[in-house]
Amino acid sequence: MNEKMSKLAVNGGIPYKQDSFPKWPYGDEKEIALLTEVVQSGKWWRTTGRKVIEFEEKFATMQECEFCLGVTSGTHALEISMSALGISHGDEVIIPAFSYISTCSAVIYCNAVPVLVDVDPETFCMDPKAFEQAITPKTKAVIPVHMAGHSCNMDEICRIAKKHGIYVIEDAAHGHNGSYKGKKLGSFGDMAIFSFQNGKLMTCGEGGAIVTNNKNLYEQAYLIHGVGRPKDDKGYTHTVVGSTCRMNEFQGAVLLAQMDRVEEMMRRRIENAQYLDSLMNKVDGIKPQKPADYAVEGMTHYMYMFYYEDSKFGGHPRQEFVEALKAEGIPAFISFPVLSKTQFFMENNFMGKIPGYDYKKEKDLPNANKIGEKVVCIPQYTLLGAQKDMEDIAGAVLKIQEAFCQ
Ligand SMILES: *Cc1c(COP(=O)(O)O)cnc(C)c1O
Repeated sequence: MNEKMSKLAVNGGIPYKQDSFPKWPYGDEKEIALLTEVVQSGKWWRTTGRKVIEFEEKFATMQECEFCLGVTSGTHALEISMSALGISHGDEVIIPAFSYISTCSAVIYCNAVPVLVDVDPETFCMDPKAFEQAITPKTKAVIPVHMAGHSCNMDEICRIAKKHGIYVIEDAAHGHNGSYKGKKLGSFGDMAIFSFQNGKLMTCGEGGAIVTNNKNLYEQAYLIHGVGRPKDDKGYTHTVVGSTCRMNEFQGAVLLAQMDRVEEMMRRRIENAQYLDSLMNKVDGIKPQKPADYAVEGMTHYMYMFYYEDSKFGGHPRQEFVEALKAEGIPAFISFPVLSKTQFFMENNFMGKIPGYDYKKEKDLPNANKIGEKVVCIPQYTLLGAQKDMEDIAGAVLKIQEAFCQ
């Protein structure tokens, strides 16, 4: 092993980063005070408490929507939204080929068929043209995903959806407090979902929310999320088929505390991401997700994502780079795979369910496939650090490149 390789932390050398990034999840006296209040009140579920209701009101206001419903996860929020819209067997739902599995699995959970379309190679968001081309008479809805908080082109997506009579469900699992051209994410679609899972920008461990401006859809979602029981139910009235996906008061309490920090944290991430872009763009073989001009101001930066070109790193594969980066003290992970390359897809043979549509055809999804194969992600909490932390990220990347290329 040459000298530079042996100095890599992954080979026993001294890690590049000696101190640590801000810890995540973050919670302090605020969470503790509100949680204590709930414990002592004896009101642990939303039916008797006020915390979930208070949270829903505040969250709806933040996302500029009339209604918000707290639920148990972002995945459940997607499933409930689609059920509320009446999406089921025989329907097709258009989704980006590059997303977290839930965007796709929720469609299948509703017995509908997910139709994968390509994304933009720079913004990683759904390509409106690909969306329009995939529309058939069976298309019932589209789920644009605001990838890493980069808003999709909502003008185009909503225009096309309206023209064809298709519902829009925004997957804003990465988009808390984010916006598109000055208007908050979640306020464009018929419905939108958020996640409060452990790594997300606001968290209560696990949780989710649905927002909408449509009272009927809100009420339908409310019924579905509580085994069909109306709000004022005094007995066992069950008006529709549903499940139990209610957010509890502990989740509501933690989220109320988390909400107070969202705006300030987002500003810090935007500032740091821009600085990190300036450093990373100088590295040959690294190309960060590139925000469209319209998206810069309202981008939440859930994950710092970049292409890793192994040919500029001595041919060392992406996995090796990620291991080396982690050893240097920089948290990193490989991006999610293109949905059609997950084991779930391959083994369930969804291919062929739509005549003439073949998910396996590489040529249909060239951008999504490239992202799935080349992108590396750094978690959002690193962007809550100081300028020096950004310099450490870029410095560690350069240290690895020098060693890999020697
Ligand atoms: C996290 C996530 C979800 C699902 O949220 P959970 O709360 O984990 O169920 C949905 N879509 C995207 C894009 C996500 O990243």
